[in-house]
Amino acid sequence: MRAVTATSGQVQLVDRDIPTGNGELITVTSSGICGSDLHLIEAGLSGVILGHEFGGLTEDGRLVAVRPTGECGTCPSCLMHAPSTCPEATTKAHGISQDGGLAEFVRVESSRLFALPPGTDPASVGLVEPLAVVVHGINRLTLHRGQRAVVVGAGSIGLLAAAVLKDRGVDVDIVARHPHQFAAAEQLNITAVEKAGKNYDCSFDAVCTQQSFDQCVSATRPRGSLLEFGMVWSPVALSNNFMMKEINIIPSIYYSHDNEHDDFAEAIDVLHRNHNITNAIVTHRFALEDAEHAFTVAADRKSGAIKVHMFTTL
Ligand SMILES: [Zn+2]
Ligand SMILES: [Zn+2]
Repeated sequence: MRAVTATSGQVQLVDRDIPTGNGELITVTSSGICGSDLHLIEAGLSGVILGHEFGGLTEDGRLVAVRPTGECGTCPSCLMHAPSTCPEATTKAHGISQDGGLAEFVRVESSRLFALPPGTDPASVGLVEPLAVVVHGINRLTLHRGQRAVVVGAGSIGLLAAAVLKDRGVDVDIVARHPHQFAAAEQLNITAVEKAGKNYDCSFDAVCTQQSFDQCVSATRPRGSLLEFGMVWSPVALSNNFMMKEINIIPSIYYSHDNEHDDFAEAIDVLHRNHNITNAIVTHRFALEDAEHAFTVAADRKSGAIKVHMFTTL
C-alpha cells in the first residue's frame, strides 16, 4: 500500500505492507496535515507512517473518525477520567508513535473508532480530531452563553475554536493576520479583527508563542481565563501583567472522555450541525501521491492553506 513517512526532515511516499494484527482494518478516506506534524518532522520524527487526523471505512462499511491517542486504563490519569494526560496518549499515538492515517490502510483498536452520521462528507472525517482538540480545550473552562471570548491566531485550531464558541452562543472575536484567514472567518460568520479588544472573559491562545501569549494576557479581564491550545514549542515567559490581573492559565492537550461525555462525540455533533465548517477550513485537497507537494503547501504561510487534506481515492 502507499503510505507517507519522513526521514531526516523530508516527507516521502513509500510502499508498505497492508497492516496485519490486532484492531480493525480501516480503509482511509481522508487525512489532514497538522502544524504539529510539521514540528515533529523538523524535530526528526522518522519511520512511522504520518497522520493523526484521519478516518475512513471499516470492513463492514461504516464511516468512522479515529481517536489517534492511546490510554492504558490503569494510571492515575485514566482512573480520574483524564486520559489526555495518560502517558500512552503519546506513546501509543497513531501518526506519532504508531503508524498513522497518511496511508491507504491502518489498523485501529475498536475503542478508538467513532461512527459518523450517514451522508457525512468524507472530507469532514479528518476534521473530527482537531475539533475534538478544540472541544476539549473549551470544556476545560466555564464559559457561558453571551460571555465574551477572543481567539488569537486564525489557523485551523483558532478558527475551529471560534466556530465551537459561536455554536455555544459565546460572543467571540478572532485575531487574524492573512487575507485567507479573514475570508475563512467570514465563511464561518465570525468577527475577525487585526487586533484584540480588551476585557474579554476568556482568551484562547491558538499560536503558543510569546507574542500570542502576551496578546492574550492584555486582552483578558482581571481574573479571566487564558487557555493554551497545543504545544509550546519555544519557551514562553510570564509577565507581571499576568500576575497583576490574576489570570487563570489553563493548558489543554489532546481530548478526554468520562462516563457521560466524550470530546470526539461532541466534535462529531458540532460538525454535523455546522456544515459550513468543512468548506471554510479544508482549503486544499490532494491525492496521497502528491504528499510531498501537499506538505510544502501546508508549511508555506503564503499558500493560503488553512487545512490541507489528502485523499486516498482522488
Ligand atoms: Zn493535529
Ligand atoms: Zn493511563
